Amino acid sequence: MITRLHDPNYDRWAHQIKRTGGCRQPIHLRGKVEHYDRATGRLLHRYSTLKEPDGVLRVPCKTRRASRCPACAETYRADTYQLVRAGLVGGKGVPETVAAHPALFVTLTAPSFGTVHVRREKNGKVLPCHARRDGKTCPHGHVMSCTARHAANDPHLGEPLCPDCYDYEGSVLFNAVAPELWRRFTEALRRRFARLFGLTLRELREQLTISFAKVAEYQRRGVVHFHAVIRLDGPIGPTSPPPAWATADALEQAVQHAAGAITVEVEPLARIFRWGTQLDVRPITMNGDLTEQAVAAYIAKYATKAAECVGTLDRRIHTIDELALYPLREHAHRLIAECLRLGALDDLADLRLTQWAHMLGFRGHFSTKSRRYSTTLGALRAAREEHQRTEEITTGRLPLFDEDTVLVIAHWQYAGKGLSLGDQLLAAALTGTSLSYAGGGSDE
Ligand SMILES: [Zn+2]
Ligand SMILES: [Zn+2]
Ligand SMILES: [Zn+2]
Repeated sequence: MITRLHDPNYDRWAHQIKRTGGCRQPIHLRGKVEHYDRATGRLLHRYSTLKEPDGVLRVPCKTRRASRCPACAETYRADTYQLVRAGLVGGKGVPETVAAHPALFVTLTAPSFGTVHVRREKNGKVLPCHARRDGKTCPHGHVMSCTARHAANDPHLGEPLCPDCYDYEGSVLFNAVAPELWRRFTEALRRRFARLFGLTLRELREQLTISFAKVAEYQRRGVVHFHAVIRLDGPIGPTSPPPAWATADALEQAVQHAAGAITVEVEPLARIFRWGTQLDVRPITMNGDLTEQAVAAYIAKYATKAAECVGTLDRRIHTIDELALYPLREHAHRLIAECLRLGALDDLADLRLTQWAHMLGFRGHFSTKSRRYSTTLGALRAAREEHQRTEEITTGRLPLFDEDTVLVIAHWQYAGKGLSLGDQLLAAALTGTSLSYAGGGSDE
């Protein structure tokens, strides 16, 4: 810390750190950018990291995971919020007329894989978990009843009453096939719509687009479920109104049907998976119970969480021996161990359960959207980078150039990531972020 503070390059270092927005694990880049006059080949400007502190440029890691970098995850969350909201009320290139298109907020859950401890509330009172007067004893000697009124932060929540009765295989296989279930669900939705109105799939496409934005959330028991915004547009997306017959009611009917109709089979184990029976479908309105802000905030919140919120790991794990090194609760341990067991079976190789064991088998994307839903995260990032570039030009760090007459050649090389502990302390002070040392440090 003292060395850094006495470094004559300290101001430039501090500027770099501020520009990363408090990133906990910035990427280090080494390289140069040169600007040439296209007509004469003359070098107009050269930027090189040679003169930068430690000879590197630090850029944000851009992770979406709050457990790895709170600052970058916050940027991701805010972008996701803007993206989801634009699809409901317009903005960011989406016309405001989109607000009149029918839209639903749909939650597709996983089925049960065994009785788990739950916290239930009724009229503000916490109810007993699973009070059963005739509580049967399972083959492993556990009474299948629990009269506890669990606190919201009780670590037992989501854990099975009997781990030996719990279907761990089903739980991780469900996570593995959930993206396929979703894909089939969206197809079934289109087919159902076509059927309802006597159209072929091609005729439907000429009149209607079904757009969606969805996010995966882990329940405490370690299975994913999906929250999605599903919206009806005309044939060219949000700029065209849907046909008059494409109402929110028709969409709800189609969703109910499609969610119940589809299955995915894991053939080698002869197991068939479908959505759970708890399907929640609610209309999104500007002033009703469920507003567009609430929906966007909800989806954005889960976009930055991964499986670690159920007490597992946020990095890859490959062997049972490696797993033993982590102090995990039994439920999380068993879920990961089950992924490793099934991942070793040749027949299930395409589910890639070993690679995704730390995610409890789920290898899908956390937040996804259909092409025409609204803007993209890439477009939002590009807008922010353009703003930063303008700032570099006005402060004289970059030349103002015309793309038609100037050729830009860039050479970049990865040179490590992270900050030393001393740098972390300074960075936290500079960017007003809280310091939570994750043991990461620099691995340059
Ligand atoms: Zn970061
Ligand atoms: Zn309980
Ligand atoms: Zn049992």
